[in-house]
Amino acid sequence: MGSIHGAWCNARTIPMTCKYCNQEVFYFFCDCGCKVFFDALGEPWPKHYCADYEKAIFPSPVYPQEDIQEDATEGKMFTWTLLGPDEKIDIDIELSYSQTVRENKIRINEKRYTIEKIEPSVNAYLNQTGIVRELIGPINKEKKFRIRIDSAFGYQLLGAFREEDFMQITMHTTNLAFGTPRSFTFLIPSKMTRKRIKIGSHIFVTLVSESVKGKNYWYCRSIESFE
Ligand SMILES: [Zn+2]
Ligand SMILES: [Zn+2]
Repeated sequence: MGSIHGAWCNARTIPMTCKYCNQEVFYFFCDCGCKVFFDALGEPWPKHYCADYEKAIFPSPVYPQEDIQEDATEGKMFTWTLLGPDEKIDIDIELSYSQTVRENKIRINEKRYTIEKIEPSVNAYLNQTGIVRELIGPINKEKKFRIRIDSAFGYQLLGAFREEDFMQITMHTTNLAFGTPRSFTFLIPSKMTRKRIKIGSHIFVTLVSESVKGKNYWYCRSIESFE
């Protein structure tokens, strides 16, 4: 983590609400493995020192660095990296990146954008954070894929969507590295939504592209709720 982070290492900056103190914070993470919460955007990138987090996690004056959120079905993916006042993490961030995220925050506050809907390309794979805007289902596969599934052939055509019941989620994601919020609509096995996933949930998902009759659909491989 000794380098200067920014666009080159796919740095993402997500506005969120700290689940401990309810302040607006900015979750910064990149492909180098940086994961930090900041109080504000741009130099000097003040880190979020959360007193409520300390109280919640450790009643004694110990300042843990990581509180790993566990999802019983999906393992560990997301880490709340919050700091106590004695801790230091040095992260250098590109000036141009700082400028970009600041400008995008202003644009987004002023609602000068239209949401971009992201469709899956072949073999697409991505990790994404966002907020659940719509949750519907279980979906009717015959309708969704326009397939008669009462035949063995039709059933085979369903590919990755054969076995289970699926819900459909539309998630909006605001990454300040881009000026435009993005929308992902994906299918997810129903059993993965039963716990804690609802409209407004802040989620972290792994999405892959799965094809049915030559059309690609987002398939959710794992999901974690921040709440
Ligand atoms: Zn980096
Ligand atoms: Zn906090």
